[in-house]
Amino acid sequence: MRHCRQAPARTGAVRGRPGEAPGPDAVRRSLDGAAERAVERARLAVSPVGRRVFALSCVIALTAVGWTSSAPLLGAAFGAVVLPEGPAVPVAGILGGLTVAIDPGHGGFDPGVLEGPVRETDINLAVSLMLRDILERAGAEVVLTRTEDIDLVQPGDEERYGSEARADLKRRLEAAEAAGADLFLSLHCNAFPSPVWRGSQTFYDPESRAGYLLAEAIQAELVRVTGETDRTPNGRIDSFLLKNAAFPAVIVELGFLSNPRDLELLQDAGYQRLLAMAVFFGICRFVHSSPAAAPAGQREGPDG
Ligand SMILES: [Zn+2]
Repeated sequence: MRHCRQAPARTGAVRGRPGEAPGPDAVRRSLDGAAERAVERARLAVSPVGRRVFALSCVIALTAVGWTSSAPLLGAAFGAVVLPEGPAVPVAGILGGLTVAIDPGHGGFDPGVLEGPVRETDINLAVSLMLRDILERAGAEVVLTRTEDIDLVQPGDEERYGSEARADLKRRLEAAEAAGADLFLSLHCNAFPSPVWRGSQTFYDPESRAGYLLAEAIQAELVRVTGETDRTPNGRIDSFLLKNAAFPAVIVELGFLSNPRDLELLQDAGYQRLLAMAVFFGICRFVHSSPAAAPAGQREGPDG
């Protein structure tokens, strides 16, 4: 069984602590040709109509977030405002033309982190399905690598790829590629031996500038929308998925099942919906912002 154990931040794991200064290797990278093309491909995938309606609807949607964030029943209120069953924040069309692959981490032979009766695979899937609904409402094509509790291993794969786990990941990338994905997001929950670490965090491959930009956009919205994390995007990860993705790709660790507060939040449907909305806004931010608008001094190294 694979467990999610992305290393927590060396600093800033508890809210309010400052991040550590960039190290000498955390030099800002320039956009290389391939990364720039990947970012542009995703941005250009969105139709001109989508771009035109984006500004207005984003203002309205973000206002809705601001309002519900201060409400005690923020999750429920949020759903009433934004989700398909609710009355209409006009997000329709703002991601038209974009194809997003969502990978609910684990499933089948591999439940991920187990915390008592709580299974990581179930939470990953619940948030992924909510994210799918929101993205589709915004006009995006969505492909999920799984929609139930299964893995993707095919007969003979173990021999072909060396292990079930590797084969499962390979098949997930293949599903995204076959769908012509512009972006790839793998959703997980973290766990660590110490219960003090908490908060959602987005990971990217250190060699992928496009992945970094997507992670930065999603993490910024996780911080703003949920109010439950002050972490920054993290590139200290050696991930087969991220290394081998042919598109901007990130792993979103939704929270720590090993932390009591995160454990409670992650099981709450309202909070799951809030996480999904945050990721959605992150995708909007990534797709609709220009590379030139990215703030200077982005760092690839230490997180906070
Ligand atoms: Zn996981």
